[in-house]
Amino acid sequence: MDLSLSPEQQEIRRLVRDFAEREVKPRAQAIDQTGEFPRDLVDKAAGLGLLGILVPEAHGGAGLDHVSFAIFVEEVARFCASTAVILDVHISVGTEPIVLFGSEDQKRRWLPDLAQGHTLAAFALTEPEAGSDAAHLKTTASRRDGAYVLNGSKIFITNAGEAQLYVVMASTRPGSGAEGISAFLVGGDNPGLKVGPKFKKMGLNGSAIAEVYLENCAVDEADRLGKEGDGFRIAMRALDSGRIGISAQAVGLAQGALDDATAYAKERKQFGKPIAELQTIQNKIADMAVKIRAARWMTWKAAALCDAGQPFTKEASMAKLFATDATMEITLDAQQVFGGYGYLEDYPMARRVRDAKACQIYEGTNQVQRLVIARELVHP
Ligand SMILES: Cc1cc2nc3c(=O)[nH]c(=O)nc-3n(C[C@H](O)[C@H](O)[C@H](O)COP(=O)(O)OP(=O)(O)OC[C@H]3O[C@@H](n4cnc5c(N)ncnc54)[C@H](O)[C@@H]3O)c2cc1C
Repeated sequence: MDLSLSPEQQEIRRLVRDFAEREVKPRAQAIDQTGEFPRDLVDKAAGLGLLGILVPEAHGGAGLDHVSFAIFVEEVARFCASTAVILDVHISVGTEPIVLFGSEDQKRRWLPDLAQGHTLAAFALTEPEAGSDAAHLKTTASRRDGAYVLNGSKIFITNAGEAQLYVVMASTRPGSGAEGISAFLVGGDNPGLKVGPKFKKMGLNGSAIAEVYLENCAVDEADRLGKEGDGFRIAMRALDSGRIGISAQAVGLAQGALDDATAYAKERKQFGKPIAELQTIQNKIADMAVKIRAARWMTWKAAALCDAGQPFTKEASMAKLFATDATMEITLDAQQVFGGYGYLEDYPMARRVRDAKACQIYEGTNQVQRLVIARELVHP
């Protein structure tokens, strides 16, 4: 199997690496310390056409593949995982469901603005009482006068309060589990949609997460995505390619940690020589590099299968599980290379450890990834 990048993918990598080094790197530390939502970086990425990376050209996007998407998220996450997750959620679980399941009318109304960054997207599945067991969500969508009325609440929603579009899962047949769930496109300006205060969290400080309340939220039938009862399938398909993005985010975080740890080890002298000459440190550097290589290739493999129109659920879960667990270890090891300085918030290592933790939790915890992988193997 060919794991090399095509000339087009190499060109994308050059473009996004330049964007990340020039625009994202200088802002990353301040974004973490102030918790500021990096709207300027979202706008600059949009200006380069990167928000529409998975949107077909016919609808105003770049029409690129999932390998290019993974490369973009990785390069941004190398410096700022907050910015990476904002863009990742927008591109994958926020926008891709419309590309895949939207009617022509929905594509025409939403995709050009999503691709150009005039509209930022969020994905609202998780609820206070339905996390891993999303099929048992409680938000309802009742038919009334040719429309739907949504009631319920969603929690941990990335881009909440910043987004102009929410892809919301709600039950049109309460009590029927996954079969009763439908997907809806809800505008951020809908008077029935309210956003709670931003949660204070341990990392990813620039990315907003909050509770989203749906209170008699009226949604036109034309804004139902897919057919009634398709919502769970739409959400799971969105999460399959979303997990490629989370794997890529983890790979970027880990690569940034390795780059900084290697540079620091070559500079920092103890016992009269750079610590990079110590075998203990070299072992750490080698182990980090091997894990990153494996994680990146697993991510690209899942992306390539997706692009080839082949099943990729298992590969996306494997990549997400491996890459995010590896990144937790790598960021901790890289922090250790920095010694006491790794514990200071003036250096990026503590931030990377805090940011890495979320990758093991969202878009399905790593325990849930094991369930997905085992299910695919036991019941292929
Ligand atoms: C920073 C952040 C951003 C997020 N962004 C979004 C978003 O944009 N949209 C959205 O919809 N959600 C989002 N989430 C929610 C996230 O997807 C959920 O937190 C996650 O799916 C787990 O759900 P939960 O928190 O309710 O944990 P629970 O499901 O209550 O799980 C608690 C623990 O039990 C384990 N567990 C549960 N069931 C099983 C099982 N069957 N087998 C083995 N172990 C199990 C879990 O692995 C976990 O360790 C975000 C979360 C975070 C932290």
